[in-house]
Amino acid sequence: MAKRAKKNNAIEVIILIIVIAFTIYNNLIEQSTANKTDAKGKVSVHFIDVGQADSILIRTENGNALIDAGNNEDGPLLVKYFKSLGINSFDYVFGTHAHEDHIGGMDDIIKNFKVEKYYMPNAATTTKTFLDILDALDAKSYKFSVPKIGQKFSMGDVHFEIIYVGEDETDLNSTSIVMRMDHGENSFLFTGDSTSKVEKLILDSNIDVDVLKVAHHGSSYSNTLDFLKKVSPKYAVIEVGANNSYNHPEKVILRRLQRLNIEVYRTDQSGTIIMESDGNVLNIETLKTQTNG
Ligand SMILES: [Zn+2]
Repeated sequence: MAKRAKKNNAIEVIILIIVIAFTIYNNLIEQSTANKTDAKGKVSVHFIDVGQADSILIRTENGNALIDAGNNEDGPLLVKYFKSLGINSFDYVFGTHAHEDHIGGMDDIIKNFKVEKYYMPNAATTTKTFLDILDALDAKSYKFSVPKIGQKFSMGDVHFEIIYVGEDETDLNSTSIVMRMDHGENSFLFTGDSTSKVEKLILDSNIDVDVLKVAHHGSSYSNTLDFLKKVSPKYAVIEVGANNSYNHPEKVILRRLQRLNIEVYRTDQSGTIIMESDGNVLNIETLKTQTNG
């Protein structure tokens, strides 16, 4: 009797081992097929309507990134928008340069979301907006990093490359982080408020893309003909406020884009512009949101 029990125990142990091995094997198979289906995945790029300011959300199945956060009053509206999308954290947040229309809402972002990495140029200023960000980072024991030209980041199959970042504190626009994003066949160039001086410096860099975030809200201090020809985008997105006092986007730039057969999308006309890539096709839709402070 005792012997029999022992034998039964041994059989049970063997069955248990087989079940565990089978479960692990199945999980591995599931994981590898999941990776395969995600290989191209989907990414949506939200050029958010924040009036005369910039804010761009990049949403993937593997994480989120944010480039700029509008003016000060846009902060709470952006927080609400991101929460409504179910976003709780950002893998990468970039403040392209230290002007209020790009980093105004950043303190609200840092306070309300988990931020894995915060990047900004090595070009400080003494405005309250800028100091508020340093305080917000400090309060959560976050550190900021300065990206390096050529540095690469990834979220799944979405790849970023830093094309330029400056450090001349007397010309903050020219310190703007310029970065490229690739997802399969689709590519984007994000420019902040970069200047014609920088455009000349990066003319031979890896800047040929499908979608250009037009620099500096369509200012003629940027967007030189040589640069636009090199980038040769199919689409251009202008983040700009209706009836702004700078007369952005400038007519000369709109004409230049038109002459190059580049299709233009503007947040002052369309609201938030969402481009979704599946690695091959790029779908574009526009959306009136409550984010315009
Ligand atoms: Zn700006």
